Amino acid sequence: METVDPVGAAGEGVHEGTQENAIGGAGPLAALRRALQDRGLRHQTAYRLPHDVPRIADLAFPELKVAVFLDRCFWRECPEPHLDERTDAGHWSEEAGRERRRNALSDRRLFADGWAVVHVWEHQDPRRAAEQIAEVVRDRALMRRERGAR
Ligand SMILES: [Zn+2]
Repeated sequence: METVDPVGAAGEGVHEGTQENAIGGAGPLAALRRALQDRGLRHQTAYRLPHDVPRIADLAFPELKVAVFLDRCFWRECPEPHLDERTDAGHWSEEAGRERRRNALSDRRLFADGWAVVHVWEHQDPRRAAEQIAEVVRDRALMRRERGAR
């Protein structure tokens, strides 16, 4: 019995372990991750921030101490007029207010701990958001090099 010609089959397994190169999915976070990847910015997702800041950063560059939060327009009370009447509901704006105060407090703790905190809105163009993040990452990398050279 003849077997199938194996030529061309050898490379079939090559894609295993490279799936990090393909950021799938829809939604603003996936779009932002793809935009960052296009710029060659390697990042971590759902990064648990250290010690007294019990918070998960949507994206992080831990070595440079850059934390990125993708703010949901609804919860963070986006100033853009694209939000509908949902935000008028008293209960939800109260919740959003609590969330905002909590986040402001943990932002301050992060700053005190030497982290840079970047907030981007989910409605933002992912390429513009990635540009904003890239700027901070560049600054931090530069800062670290300068400090290291001293
Ligand atoms: Zn918005």
